[in-house]
Amino acid sequence: IDATGEVTKWPFWNRDPMGLWSRGRLVMIGDACHPMRPHMAQGACMAIEDAAVLARCLSETGMADYATAFGMYERTRKERATKVQSISNANTWLKQPEDPAWVYAYDADAVELG
Ligand SMILES: Cc1cc2nc3c(=O)[nH]c(=O)nc-3n(C[C@H](O)[C@H](O)[C@H](O)COP(=O)(O)OP(=O)(O)OC[C@H]3O[C@@H](n4cnc5c(N)ncnc54)[C@H](O)[C@@H]3O)c2cc1C
Repeated sequence: IDATGEVTKWPFWNRDPMGLWSRGRLVMIGDACHPMRPHMAQGACMAIEDAAVLARCLSETGMADYATAFGMYERTRKERATKVQSISNANTWLKQPEDPAWVYAYDADAVELG
C-alpha cells in the first residue's frame, strides 16, 4: 500500500430485495433489479438468466402484451434472484456443506414460466 501512487476506496453497495420489478413499459433485470454483493459470484449470472427468461416470456405473449410477459418474468425469477441476493449479501454461501447444484444447474431455457 505504501508503494501505491493512488489508493481508491471502492464501496460495495447492495440493497434489500425490491417489491417492484416493472411499471408500465419499464422492466428491470440484473443489478438494477437485485443488486448484490459479489460473494456468490452470481450477479452477472442472474442478469443473464433474467434476460433469457424475459426474452422467453416476451416471445410467449408477443410484444404487444408486454404487461403479461413482465408479470410472468417476475413470477418466474423473483424467488431465485431474491434467494441468491440474500445469501450473497449475508456472505454465507458455502460456509456450511451444501449441494450447490440449485445455483449451477439452473436452466433458464427450460425453467417453467410463472
Ligand atoms: C468485485 C466484483 C466481482 C464480481 N464478480 C462476479 C462474478 O465472478 N460472477 C458474476 O456473475 N458476477 C460478478 N459480479 C457482479 C456483476 O459484475 C454484476 O452483477 C453485473 O455486471 C450486472 O450486470 P448489469 O448488466 O445488470 O449491470 P451493469 O454491468 O452495471 O451494466 C449497467 C450498464 O448501464 C450503464 N449505464 C448506467 N447508467 C446509464 C445511463 N443513464 N445511460 C446509459 N447507460 C447507463 C453503465 O455504464 C453500465 O455499463 C461482480 C461484481 C463485483 C463488483
